[in-house]
Amino acid sequence: MFCPKCGTTNEENARFCGKCGAPLAPGVIPSQQSVPQGQIPNYLVPAILTTICCCMPFGIVAIIYAAQVNGKAAAGDYNGAMEFSKNAKLWSWIAFGIGLVFSILYAVFMFFGFISQRSMGGMDF
Ligand SMILES: [Zn+2]
Repeated sequence: MFCPKCGTTNEENARFCGKCGAPLAPGVIPSQQSVPQGQIPNYLVPAILTTICCCMPFGIVAIIYAAQVNGKAAAGDYNGAMEFSKNAKLWSWIAFGIGLVFSILYAVFMFFGFISQRSMGGMDF
């Protein structure tokens, strides 16, 4: 087994390099796969905010994705964590967009309802 640090050939079952002392066994070497905490945004806060303020069903989809980002990252599944992070962000925006559209439509309907009520009042007069 070659030492990844200095290139010295060691015994196959050696756990440490005989020359430089670097760890050789796969279990000893710190895993490069682990994702540092906080590296991948989980979008949990915007997901919760959009659920409360905007659009419940799509916001919940965003929360479901957001809640699993940290777990995936902790398990070393970088691609999976990124995927769930993207989905959480996407569904947060979808929920926000739909919530915004419905808010505008509601405001428009209220506005025209107000106008028609006024015009009907004018007819009575
Ligand atoms: Zn070495």
